[in-house]
Amino acid sequence: MSNLLQEHDFKFQKKYGQNFLQDVKIPRRIAMECTNFTFPDADALPQKKAETLILEIGPGAGILTKELAKRFEKVVAVEIDTSLEPVLKDALSGFDNVEVVFSDIMEINLRKFLDSKRKTDDGRTLAVSVCANLPYYITTPIIMKLLEEYPDFDFITVMVQKEVALRLCTSAGTADYGAITAQINLYGKAKRLFTVPSGCFYPRPKVDSAVIRIELYKTQTYTQKEISLTSKIIKQAFLMRRKTLANALCEVYPLISKQRLGQIIAQTLGTSEQVRGEALTTQQFCELAKALDAIE
Ligand code: SAM
Repeated sequence: MSNLLQEHDFKFQKKYGQNFLQDVKIPRRIAMECTNFTFPDADALPQKKAETLILEIGPGAGILTKELAKRFEKVVAVEIDTSLEPVLKDALSGFDNVEVVFSDIMEINLRKFLDSKRKTDDGRTLAVSVCANLPYYITTPIIMKLLEEYPDFDFITVMVQKEVALRLCTSAGTADYGAITAQINLYGKAKRLFTVPSGCFYPRPKVDSAVIRIELYKTQTYTQKEISLTSKIIKQAFLMRRKTLANALCEVYPLISKQRLGQIIAQTLGTSEQVRGEALTTQQFCELAKALDAIE
């Protein structure tokens, strides 16, 4: 445990997923690789900070926050645990470009919150990205909230459990492919950056972690309507993963018979009528959603 946490007699709270990074090398690497900016190297700092606002979720004792603040123009860190206030005040005392907000990230309206924060005093609008070592109990809801509420992010770089990272970054037809994988692809492309052993955290979690980076599409690939139609069938397809897609979709399209659903799937996608959802790419889910919407 760091000296600062000991000085403030900080008590770790399991319910908040508090596993803090110990060695500065990992946060330094995360901060270096969380956008497409090329920084000189891990230790040398840039002459000019990248004109980006970084939203950090769960700064903890501020180990990643400091590395972000050294490289990016502005950092806004949202922390649920108010008992970290004195710790963060001390840890971040040397930085004037960090704002810590004590709140539950799930309660924040990101559109309202970030649209104002990204405006600078000299009239510029900063690019916005996310960088965080996420609390594990709530990884997927946070990622979906970020994508759904604020597709303006350039990059979302997060540390998650290693198994979850595999699921987020895999492709259709693999065992790890799930609803979250297909949904992420509606907004951007996910890539696994590197693994972080469990020994790098205090307290030490049971499993290793990995850092992933989602690069959001620069130009809109799917319209809002396509996203909502497609999300609906993706969720249903993976809720009933072992069933054929036609079977799984019966519930959400009660006016179309199962046989007809099978035919539409085969005609639209050029697959068998018996295909399962886990074999479909996001693009295929979208084509099918549009075909079904036109019939309904
Ligand atoms: N960034 C620190 C680090 O890397 O050492 C801490 C990461 S720790 C895995 C997760 C952090 O998220 C904790 O500080 C925890 O209190 C905070 N947290 C948990 N749930 C949260 C929520 N709903 N909103 C904001 N912060 C949350």
